[in-house]
Amino acid sequence: MKYSAQKGTGDILPADIYKWQKVEKMYADVCHSFGYEEIRIPTFEQTDLFARGVGDTTDVVTKEMYTFDDKGGRSITLRPEGTAGVVRSYIENGMSSLPSPVRLYYNITAFRYEKMAKGRRREFHQLGLESFGSTGPEIDAEIISVVDVFFKRMGLRNISLHINSIGCPSCRSKYNEILKDYFRPHVSSMCEDCQARFEKNPLRMIDCKIDGEKEVVQSAPRLIDYLCDECKAHFEGLKSNLDAVGIKYEIDPNIVRGLDYYTRTVFEFVSENVGTQGTICGGGRYDGLVENCGGAPTPGIGFAMGIERFLMEAEAQGVEFTKDDNVKVYLVGMSDTANARISQICYQLRLNGIGCERDLMKRSFKSQMKYAGKQNIPYLIVIGDDELSSGKVKCKCMADGSETEVGLEGLTDYCIEHMA
Ligand code: ATP
Ligand code: MG
Repeated sequence: MKYSAQKGTGDILPADIYKWQKVEKMYADVCHSFGYEEIRIPTFEQTDLFARGVGDTTDVVTKEMYTFDDKGGRSITLRPEGTAGVVRSYIENGMSSLPSPVRLYYNITAFRYEKMAKGRRREFHQLGLESFGSTGPEIDAEIISVVDVFFKRMGLRNISLHINSIGCPSCRSKYNEILKDYFRPHVSSMCEDCQARFEKNPLRMIDCKIDGEKEVVQSAPRLIDYLCDECKAHFEGLKSNLDAVGIKYEIDPNIVRGLDYYTRTVFEFVSENVGTQGTICGGGRYDGLVENCGGAPTPGIGFAMGIERFLMEAEAQGVEFTKDDNVKVYLVGMSDTANARISQICYQLRLNGIGCERDLMKRSFKSQMKYAGKQNIPYLIVIGDDELSSGKVKCKCMADGSETEVGLEGLTDYCIEHMA
């Protein structure tokens, strides 16, 4: 029997993991610098939460969810995104009593049964955040600047920010009527999904993946031209807050975003390289969502960014990831007595947080040296009977070949001082 990873899933191997760790660490650092704290939510939730929290007219809910009955007969779904779970947790844990805004970030796997394509997987990874309690637009601009700062600190350039406003339920319901009048003569020639959307949520016909390029969709009226005064002022406020910190954006009336409960601000960070799978990060305001999921009316806003797509983009832009040396020093053993001493030294070094390695394969002196070289371990110390009797060892720095004589007794302290 030969097993392989399931379609759309894959391993992240040691050869790549350091890039992921850099990305995750930087994201956490950036979030912390804005006052966000991490939340960890379960991998699965009851199916109904996603139907409500993501929206039952979305592709994610209608086509892409991994749903099954567990042995207790409950309908369970592997999270296709993070917002619904975070909203559930916010309500369940009474977080509305915390000082606002409540700022939460996350790093999750997500699962969607999707057709395979570049940058599209069935298990993928998202960095995201949600913020509750502020109506904006200052916080809308602030979460956009979380992404902007993250990209800049990672060394990414040339990512376009697209923003739009999809209004509030009041301007949207007026607009939906306008849109229905517009689409009515054409709806019979549109795809099956659009025919369903026409009745349930005509706004989503605008970002149809099948009909989207058609002239009739391209020239449809855009919500941005029908915003009510409050929504207009909110959008102007978002723009001036972005202008104030110098974050550039394009207004893109075509962004409507997947979630049904988005209100006002929606945005995407789009690659200039990756093409159709070019959306690296998407987010928006969802003032109706908490209430819709059973909580008190609470404004909220968030985004999610695909780590796979971020890394594709980083690679395309030639971002360099440096690999940290986890193992700082290799101790070459020349005799059994030396090896016994090396065990003690390694134990002490590790207790003090210094990564080290020694031979575990009964290798000869020569092949231990070769191994250490192959692993690019930056320091090398040879210990044999001579070193044990003189009480002195040489610590070789592989980068410049220089050697420093160190007393065996003080070796741990020396390593802590020079290698930490
Ligand atoms: P798309 O239009 O590409 O399907 P989406 O609107 O479904 O994206 P969101 O639900 O907004 O995506 O998810 C946020 C981000 O998560 C996306 O911008 C993308 O970077 C990433 N993402 C979404 N689906 C996948 C997937 N199947 N594989 C890898 N990354 C994904
Ligand atoms: Mg999708």
